[in-house]
Amino acid sequence: MLNFKQILENEETLDPQNWAEMRQIGHQMIDDMMDYLQNIAQKPVWQPIPNAVKQTLKQPLPQQAEPLNDIYNSFKTNILPYPKGNIHPRFWSWVQGTGTPFAMLAEMLAAGMNSNVAIGEHSAMYVEQQVIEWCKQLLHYPNSASGLLLSGASMANITALIVARNAHEGTNVRKEGLPIASKMVLYASAETHSCIQRAAEVIGIGSNGVRKVNVDEQYKLDITHLTQLITADKAAGLTPFCVVGNAGTVNTGAIDPLTDIAKVCKTENLWFHVDGAFGALAKLVPEYQAELQAIEQADSIAFDLHKWLYMPYEVACVLIKNAQHHRNAFALQPSYLLSHERGLAAGPDPFGNYGMELSRGFKALKVWMSLKEHGSEKFARLIRQNIAQAFYLADLITHQPYLELVAPVTLNIVCFRFNPPNIQLSPDELNELNKEILMCLHEQGLSAPSSTILNNKYVIRMANVNHRSRKSDFEALVQDTLSLGLALLNKKQA
Ligand SMILES: *Cc1c(COP(=O)(O)O)cnc(C)c1O
Repeated sequence: MLNFKQILENEETLDPQNWAEMRQIGHQMIDDMMDYLQNIAQKPVWQPIPNAVKQTLKQPLPQQAEPLNDIYNSFKTNILPYPKGNIHPRFWSWVQGTGTPFAMLAEMLAAGMNSNVAIGEHSAMYVEQQVIEWCKQLLHYPNSASGLLLSGASMANITALIVARNAHEGTNVRKEGLPIASKMVLYASAETHSCIQRAAEVIGIGSNGVRKVNVDEQYKLDITHLTQLITADKAAGLTPFCVVGNAGTVNTGAIDPLTDIAKVCKTENLWFHVDGAFGALAKLVPEYQAELQAIEQADSIAFDLHKWLYMPYEVACVLIKNAQHHRNAFALQPSYLLSHERGLAAGPDPFGNYGMELSRGFKALKVWMSLKEHGSEKFARLIRQNIAQAFYLADLITHQPYLELVAPVTLNIVCFRFNPPNIQLSPDELNELNKEILMCLHEQGLSAPSSTILNNKYVIRMANVNHRSRKSDFEALVQDTLSLGLALLNKKQA
């Protein structure tokens, strides 16, 4: 049996034995990170990880303590120099945010408090409530809506779709689950993010229950095709329940005709969900308010704060117009989670009643501190600046005969390729050439756009949610793409 008396004579803790040493290394870390962020533009946007470095990350489990300084030095030599690059001014891959120095410090404070924001009477619960209120105000979403912070838009989207599914099926689905041959059908454009399909698969709709609605030449959902599909499905005895509209598609930044979708949903009595992972926040920009106004009519909206609000990972938000539907989809009250009238176990309605997670970190603090640091108007200006930069890049490309704009630019995403005039290259050769250009841009640490495929064309894709990018960075992207393209072409012809 465990000899508890002996153990208790030698009690230990994970707190430092030497607080002065911990304090000193903490100060050092802050200084180092501030230097790092301040000088980030001088570094390559990305660099390959040497094999020797990778080996240092394949070590056996440490069983004994190592000195703090050794650990920190190992971080500085083996981890910090090989980042993804998304804090760099020339990073425009996928849709990835940059973060900010003050929000980094907020993360440290949140980690220090180590609040578990699930239940109880404590400040973090109210900070999150405050941030959710601010999120509604940012989008002019109704005050009475409910909301939750989540790790990302994938989680925010699935949370909304669970509510949509349950609101349609009533309480049965919580008790009985969905029948294997569910007849529920969800509609979203062919350009919709893969997380919607995955969500549909996970919540029992199945990928067969997801209708991919055609898009027009601007990559926006074709509303006629949507209504045709709904009519056909109803005639076939299926149960349409939800339409997902995109406020900014991941490939090209297209904004679906949200007002028209809202009308269809109203007529057909369907749940209107908006995936506004990044684009929803363009609603802060005066020129985009009309096009995004219908977000206010949506039954639910999912959007990231780690994309176009520039927050450090992870944080996203889901808002649900009907708070009762939201709560009905998730609320449970086990005996160990009773809410009390007073004391620590009192407090707001537990967040666990509004989503899948119970233990949750203090994601709200960085948002709360950052919105105060800059004010919403500054964020609106930066989003507007990112869009202007995308138009500027598109303009440079249009005036450059060796480059081709492959999709219309409507928001912050530019899809283009190197396509030399007067030289006959097959579609495959063009695709290969552009893929090679992209890999060289990365390997040489010049810039980091990503890629996608549009109508079988491999394109270089620049998605801008970067508050550090400057006009000159886009000029460099054009120049580097050209030089690499021409060099590769010469090599090929030699
Ligand atoms: C990024 C993105 C998602 C997924 O968001 P995560 O935060 O990565 O989970 C969903 N939809 C769109 C349109 C996106 O751009």
